[in-house]
Amino acid sequence: MPKLIIMGSSSAVATRDQANTHLLVKGEKRTILIDCVDSMIGRLSQVGLDQNSVTDLFLTHFHPDHVAGVPGFLMSMWLLKRQRPLHVFALSSVLESTIKVLDLYQWRQWPGFFQVEFHAVPETEHHLALQSDEFAIFTSPVRHMIPTLGLRIEFLQVERSLAYSCDTAPCDEVVRLASGVDLLIHEATGAEFGHSSAAQAGSIARKAEAGKLALIHYATLIEPGNHLVQQAEASFGGPVVLAKDLMEFEF
Ligand SMILES: [Zn+2]
Repeated sequence: MPKLIIMGSSSAVATRDQANTHLLVKGEKRTILIDCVDSMIGRLSQVGLDQNSVTDLFLTHFHPDHVAGVPGFLMSMWLLKRQRPLHVFALSSVLESTIKVLDLYQWRQWPGFFQVEFHAVPETEHHLALQSDEFAIFTSPVRHMIPTLGLRIEFLQVERSLAYSCDTAPCDEVVRLASGVDLLIHEATGAEFGHSSAAQAGSIARKAEAGKLALIHYATLIEPGNHLVQQAEASFGGPVVLAKDLMEFEF
């Protein structure tokens, strides 16, 4: 049964108990990591996985709380003698920046390095970025400070779906991306530039007619969080949970 694991749930300032926001989608044949923070090998082992199970990596945008772990993760996998290719999906500007950072680490000189295949995703709505017999993964641009992708994942064998807003101000792109999903994972950093409050996340979930809302990327350092659920419930009118690290959703 496919599942989504909350690998990290914090906004940009991570805490001892909550890592920066990143997600993992686990199927029978493919395991898809969405964003990459530090200590990925240890984090994967906490959910019973190793690096070889990760087939695909989506990078949502080039902010350090979402992509700073990429060089370390690649180096760790190389040291662990990974053989299988890794597919990396992102906007072309994000791929270029990622490769620039890797070049600074002279990754092309690491002997016996496994194959990394980069797949540029266009900045168009509802783009089918990856399809297998288990998943269809669509991307749409959302409204953050820099070009950023939200995702919709359809679990084809069980006919269920989820959407992830990523970092964004409330926007119609997310409403369309999340239309009718079983689970919307929406950020709740606060009503500031390029971000959303919990109440705004609830409104988006209501407009999208999502079955359930999970709040993520909230300020774990300064806010205990529980009031965020009440605020989102008031504007959504449906079930809301506060995403926490290692929480799992089955589909
Ligand atoms: Zn962020």
